[in-house]
Amino acid sequence: MGREKIVAGNWKMNMNHKGASDLLHGIVAKVSGISGTKAIVAPPALYLSEFAPLIENHDNLSIAAQNVSAFENGAYTGEISADMLASINAEYCIVGHSERRALFKESNEAINHKIARLLQVGVIPILCIGETLEERDKGIYTAVLAAQLKEALNGFSEEQLLDIIIAYEPVWAIGTGKTASPQIAQETHAFVRSSLANLYSNSFANKTRILYGGSCNPKNAKELFSCSDIDGGLIGGASLNADDFNALLIAAQ
Ligand code: PEP
Repeated sequence: MGREKIVAGNWKMNMNHKGASDLLHGIVAKVSGISGTKAIVAPPALYLSEFAPLIENHDNLSIAAQNVSAFENGAYTGEISADMLASINAEYCIVGHSERRALFKESNEAINHKIARLLQVGVIPILCIGETLEERDKGIYTAVLAAQLKEALNGFSEEQLLDIIIAYEPVWAIGTGKTASPQIAQETHAFVRSSLANLYSNSFANKTRILYGGSCNPKNAKELFSCSDIDGGLIGGASLNADDFNALLIAAQ
């Protein structure tokens, strides 16, 4: 069986409660008309416990957190634990987003600890990897991506990572309006899949979903999503509008 496509919306630190609630309701109203594609929404953490029950009757819509603490629990002011996410039925959690790597200095080692916390409680990681423009221009992007994968996944077995989602998000494409061409995206996704095969096995690599992220929108999505190693998208800006998000779900069908 082929890999079911996924379109995940990363809302980042956008929208007050009313805006987020309106967006969620807009997405919920349309998502039941979609078949063959899974939708995931990642609202700000503050809204997760309210939103999770609102989507539980929709098989093809799940909720994700945008981040999790690398620590289990205790005196870590401001942090949110994996156990807290599991307790409000967050099914997924984004880890290693380039904004967290760049602005909050998250290392591959910290990301590895976050994945460990999530796996302990059964929350599925969406692991983001991606190279900067400088790394691409220097021709070292494959080494960067391979190291990000190897270090973030260090110590986990194939069985533990059964449902993990990888998001390839070139840093130069995020929020810039500069999408990777379908050729570049496909070639890089194929490389990411071969790295997963090297780390684990061909069967693991072949069943793992690899999403593209970086200025993906309803206009360019279809061409990207029809590439053989692109299994959908992780979407920032265009996920903040219910019509655009729905169009992306349709593009992935
Ligand atoms: C992202 O931040 O994960 C992202 C892909 O953003 P955008 O779609 O806005 O480029």
